[in-house]
Amino acid sequence: MDNSYQALSMFDPKASTILIVDDDRAMRLLLRLALEWEGYEVLEANNGEQCLAEFAKSRPQMVLLDGVMPGIDGFTCCQQLRQLPEAQDVPVLMITVLDDSESVDRAFEAGATDYVTKPIHWPVLCQRVRRLLQAYWDTLQLQAQIERERALTLQLEAANQELTRLATSDGLTGLANRRYFDEVLAREWRRAVREQQPFSLLLCDVDCFKAYNDTYGHLMGDDCLESVAKILAQSVHRSADLAARYGGEEFAIIMPNTPIAGSRQIANRIQQQLAYAAIPHAASTVSTVVTLSIGLICVIPEQGCTPTAVLAQADQMLYHAKAAGRNQICAAVQSSALAICNRMGEIG
Ligand SMILES: [Mg+2]
Repeated sequence: MDNSYQALSMFDPKASTILIVDDDRAMRLLLRLALEWEGYEVLEANNGEQCLAEFAKSRPQMVLLDGVMPGIDGFTCCQQLRQLPEAQDVPVLMITVLDDSESVDRAFEAGATDYVTKPIHWPVLCQRVRRLLQAYWDTLQLQAQIERERALTLQLEAANQELTRLATSDGLTGLANRRYFDEVLAREWRRAVREQQPFSLLLCDVDCFKAYNDTYGHLMGDDCLESVAKILAQSVHRSADLAARYGGEEFAIIMPNTPIAGSRQIANRIQQQLAYAAIPHAASTVSTVVTLSIGLICVIPEQGCTPTAVLAQADQMLYHAKAAGRNQICAAVQSSALAICNRMGEIG
């Protein structure tokens, strides 16, 4: 049995509760007998005030409302009912001796769903009640179905977002993974070529990380990488910047539209924050705490040059930072990315 069928069987018009509102006690009695005979649950109110109170208390599925009553009359009562959010779709059948066209108009303007006149023709009344309740339950069922479909759509969207997040992030650190880094690098590079804006790329490496793992074990090694990743993530603030785990103990940051002054500032901030974190590293050859070597490159992109060449240049800067004794930033500015490409060609 599928969900929609289950929902359908839940809505039984015969299981409805109907509120009778009439100041005439004999009329209430007759209505009650007729409706209970049909199998409905019946509630009573003898004026407009009682009707509103009883509705709020019992939430009936339908209201049979006398038009002419002392105090709040049926028209005003109907208007006030319609202002209750929970009564907006509930059918209101007005019953009155008034059958002039003005009264009929008033009833519909007040929000009545339908209208019958006294003296009551009982088979007609019962048919109307049945039809109005069926329409009401159909509406509820449709609303429930729409709600279920909306909830399902939201669930699917959330699942899709989660899948995207899993596919693009590094399991250990939560930073972007290498695959996503490559994708963003290619995209941002193309944009930078179009817009002719300075493009910064940072590559960094945890100093003496193998010695760290040998000393503290791989679990502590993972903790260390997580701490470094957290600092990297906190150091980039613009939405276009992307911090990624490049591989092993290497990380990278893509910074589109960023001149060297800006990317150098970020590199300095990373070094500072890592110094504050003061993660002990007894086996380091450069410090007593965990440090980073950083290679930084800033280029004005040109057509005909690939991001791979820029990446290789950043890697060279990182190599220089290590060769110069680690725990430092080695940065370069290239006004022409083609120059890098040519140099890479020479090296390659
Ligand atoms: Mg009356």
